[in-house]
Amino acid sequence: MLRINTIVFPETIDEAYTLLSKNKKNRVLGGMIWLKMEDIQIPCAIDLSKLSLDTIEETEEEFKIGAMVTLREMEINEPLNKSFGNVFKDAFKDIVGVQMRNMATLGGSIYSRFGFSDVICALLCLECEVETYKHGRISLEEFTKLDYEQDIVEYIYIKKTGLQSAFTCVRNSSTDICTLNASCTKYEDHYKFCIGARPAIAKVYNCPLDDVSLDVLCGSNMRGSKEYREKLVEGLVTRLVRKVDGDAC
Ligand SMILES: Cc1cc2nc3c(=O)[nH]c(=O)nc-3n(C[C@H](O)[C@H](O)[C@H](O)COP(=O)(O)OP(=O)(O)OC[C@H]3O[C@@H](n4cnc5c(N)ncnc54)[C@H](O)[C@@H]3O)c2cc1C
Repeated sequence: MLRINTIVFPETIDEAYTLLSKNKKNRVLGGMIWLKMEDIQIPCAIDLSKLSLDTIEETEEEFKIGAMVTLREMEINEPLNKSFGNVFKDAFKDIVGVQMRNMATLGGSIYSRFGFSDVICALLCLECEVETYKHGRISLEEFTKLDYEQDIVEYIYIKKTGLQSAFTCVRNSSTDICTLNASCTKYEDHYKFCIGARPAIAKVYNCPLDDVSLDVLCGSNMRGSKEYREKLVEGLVTRLVRKVDGDAC
């Protein structure tokens, strides 16, 4: 059972980080969808809801999305989906249900770095950066390789490239986590693929337009064997190429 001694509502990000770093067991609260399943005692829980991190802002160059934006907000945001080939709609629509997606936050999803994450898989094929209190603005790919540490995810930034992107995945049953997920962006001279739920965290693979062969490192778990996942990679990559090339699928 989750037990919380105190909840605080800091009014600045500096205050939030100071409170977080006072005890290594202190935690930031996102939507609490994952946290509430944990059996831990949190001396001081830091709620970010007074920090105005709940907006999706658009400029000519990029989207800036606050950590407290929910997955549902990203799923239904038209400008965001129009700019990136409905990647968010396609990636988020099968995550459990609308009520859950109305709670789960972008910050909690990024910080958690789950191997099965559809959120990270969708974002990694785009030109995406994460802004955290400790690291400033770094690429999402770099962030996924960092060890867990006390930090606050503030924003993600997605560059508007005008390139075609797509997301696809396989679930053994609806609402389950993915057995494999995959995303792709087509550049002038190469495809950038991102394969997740291998079952390890999503990884980026680049390959030329005329030679789409990916050497994806897969493993086995209760949702599928290594061999099954390797077959799925072939199928999902073919599906993505059709999508970003504009063919019917
Ligand atoms: C039953 C279930 C099924 C799920 N299925 C899927 C799925 O199919 N696909 C998928 O992609 N995801 C899935 N998820 C994960 C979900 O989408 C969220 O990623 C997850 O719930 C975390 O988001 P949250 O806002 O609830 O974070 P919380 O539970 O509040 O926090 C999770 C962790 O992140 C930390 N944290 C939260 N916000 C921040 C921040 N801004 N900065 C630093 N640290 C922070 C917390 O301290 C905690 O350690 C599932 C979750 C559950 C519970």
